[in-house]
Amino acid sequence: MNLHEYQARDLLRAAGIAMPEGGVAATAEEAEAIARRLGGHVVVKAQVHAGGRGKAGGVKLAKDAAEARQLAGTILGMSIKGLTVQKVLVVPAATIASESYVGLIMDRESQRPVFMVSAAGGVDIEEVAAQTPERITRLAVDPRYGLLAHQALGLALSLYRDFAQARAAAGIMQRLYQVFVGNGASLAEINPLVTTTEGSVLALDAKISIDDNELDRRPDLAALRDESAEAPSEVAARQAGLTFIKLDGNVGCVVNGAGLAMATMDLVKFYGGEPANFLDIGGSSNPEKVVNALRIITADHNVKAILFNIFGGITRTDDVANGIVAATRQFTVELPIVIRLTGTNEVEAFKILQGVGMRALSDMDAAVKQAVALAQEAA
Ligand code: GDP
Ligand code: MN
Repeated sequence: MNLHEYQARDLLRAAGIAMPEGGVAATAEEAEAIARRLGGHVVVKAQVHAGGRGKAGGVKLAKDAAEARQLAGTILGMSIKGLTVQKVLVVPAATIASESYVGLIMDRESQRPVFMVSAAGGVDIEEVAAQTPERITRLAVDPRYGLLAHQALGLALSLYRDFAQARAAAGIMQRLYQVFVGNGASLAEINPLVTTTEGSVLALDAKISIDDNELDRRPDLAALRDESAEAPSEVAARQAGLTFIKLDGNVGCVVNGAGLAMATMDLVKFYGGEPANFLDIGGSSNPEKVVNALRIITADHNVKAILFNIFGGITRTDDVANGIVAATRQFTVELPIVIRLTGTNEVEAFKILQGVGMRALSDMDAAVKQAVALAQEAA
């Protein structure tokens, strides 16, 4: 779950990282009032779950409250990477001397939190990693000890020659590590971490993603979810108890089990197609889930064909077949549907589908090929 910058800032501030106090506004008038309270010279920042807001025109400096109002007026309602800006953060503007990158991710390979820092901050770190990887310093942290003072200082000295600044940055990194561990984050980054012309070290941006598995035991964090800022299809899927990730292709996939879903996507690509989504309807046999899955997939206008791939173990394939029939009765599915099912109760399932004039396949390759071909014909 991604947090907004203003939410991430609250977590960093709670951990003792100095960030000037700001305010969140949903209207230009509110932004003006906050700017006035802060003395006028502010930054107005779009609050959407996307990086690169600066480049997209979603981060602007205002010299006074009137300009803050005008800028908020243009930023609110703007679309950044397909997300509509509904709120802006207004914070005192800093005068920047240098911009660094400080980030922490959970790394699967080393099975540890890994720090990445770079003096090439402000820009996308992906760009730095691709073009000048030598400008990124990495450190895997042993979770038994956390980020030790000398390690933090070592990282900070790769960014700053000035010892006072390095010490300040090291303190920020240790606190960032506390925030990361203490909130079950999968990512925590400050980009840019700046030095100001007065010489102080300040975090100007904050990005935190919380591991979804953390949310059941942390209702305080779960409450930070802003569904209005998430892809509607992903919100609907979560509410329906489906594991769904929207992708850019045109073959809608309905699969039971995460592993089979991955294999299905691989095979779609292998046969020259592009999956429109990852969707795991889970191990239970509940027709309602199929209905919900079809609703979510058919709402995506990129989808040109639907592929069911069901392996009946605990899942009963006749329940899935009933779900498909129920769904197509509840609303018209205009798209071609290819159904592959095998396993528990497959004889019954095939009968149910035949009864309504639908045909199922038992071979996975054949079904995927057919779905890819149908999607390409329609595209
Ligand atoms: P992002 O583009 O979504 O990562 O948004 P950021 O919060 O990182 O802002 C983008 C850029 O705007 C930063 O890299 C800075 O160059 C600039 N910026 C942000 N805050 C300030 C500020 O207080 N003063 C100045 N002068 N520039 C700022
Ligand atoms: Mn940034």
